[in-house]
Amino acid sequence: PLVLGIESSCDETGVGIVRGTTLLAHAVASSVEEHVRFGGVVPEVASRAHLEAMVPTLEQAYEQAGFDVREVDAIAVTSGPGLSGALLVGVAAAKALAVAHDKPLYGVNHLAAHVAVDQLERGRYTEPAVALLVSGGHTELLLVNDIATDITLLGGTIDDAAGEAFDKVARLLGLPYPGGPEIDRAARDGDPTAIAFPRGLTTGRDLDRYRWDFSFSGLKSAVARHVQREQGMGRAIAVADVAASFQDAVCDVLSRKAIKACVEHDVPRLILGGGVAANGRLRHFVLERAEKAGVEVRIPPPSLCTDNGAMVAALGAEVVRRGIAPSSLDLPVDSSLPVTSIVAA
Ligand code: ATP
Ligand code: MG
Ligand code: FE
Repeated sequence: PLVLGIESSCDETGVGIVRGTTLLAHAVASSVEEHVRFGGVVPEVASRAHLEAMVPTLEQAYEQAGFDVREVDAIAVTSGPGLSGALLVGVAAAKALAVAHDKPLYGVNHLAAHVAVDQLERGRYTEPAVALLVSGGHTELLLVNDIATDITLLGGTIDDAAGEAFDKVARLLGLPYPGGPEIDRAARDGDPTAIAFPRGLTTGRDLDRYRWDFSFSGLKSAVARHVQREQGMGRAIAVADVAASFQDAVCDVLSRKAIKACVEHDVPRLILGGGVAANGRLRHFVLERAEKAGVEVRIPPPSLCTDNGAMVAALGAEVVRRGIAPSSLDLPVDSSLPVTSIVAA
């Protein structure tokens, strides 16, 4: 099926068009620059930016595809989870297009879309798969039995998201927002063994109780204490070493639990998604451990890892392919939509 996908859950306005697993258009406008001076995404600013960017981004996608919405079989839109005001802009646009052009509308789950996008790069995968979603708002470990009908949440962060930890630590180190790419870059000149930062929820009773969960707030506090101690002693912060040591702590835990989930659930396939999947060290750890465990790793290219409309279209195509009923035109947004809810009724 030919599907148009619209994404507006956070700070990216995305429009994608796919035919099955073939990517035909991928247009994204980001408001990240507008949030820089606040050091994080400001919901009201994001909503307004979506309003301004929606029509131009749609037009850009039509231009890439060489046709417009009149040609498509269905329209898919992220209906949650995400920022309510931001989600509303995409959902309102999708409803308007669906009504105006008499197309079926599918409200789909943003997290599932992050997993579905991988197919655009490498074609359909054999399910089941384990997926590790790591972004500014999410850190989730999923068991994907069927991308359109059956996803279970194995675990997730109990405090900060992985990308959020990168952003907060970057700020402590005086690096600009968004901090993930900055830390990734700074860490290349650093020694990852310079400082022994904590690996949350990986030992003893914590591990028993939070088998597939993550915690990054203790790590962030440890970095803050380290920075304070150094400054208190009048020493310059070794930014590269702190960045490398912090990054290793995050990526060690993420990769260890993701591969362990594959092994224990007897799933030979791991899919990475979300902005943090662009991290070089995370890729390194995951690939190294996956090879030892006999697990195949699929990581979409960075431009498809961060929020975009193509991922929504990709999931929409899977939903249409299975003959699932379209969503109601009353489709609401749900800021905390659970990953088990893949298509809205
Ligand atoms: P959502 O959580 O809804 O998916 P988001 O905008 O926070 O939305 P993304 O756009 O997927 O998520 O990713 C942005 C996050 O990824 C930021 O926290 C950013 O710091 C982080 N990030 C991007 N590149 C890297 C990198 N190379 N290393 C580590 N983190 C990175
Ligand atoms: Mg973003
Ligand atoms: Fe996302």
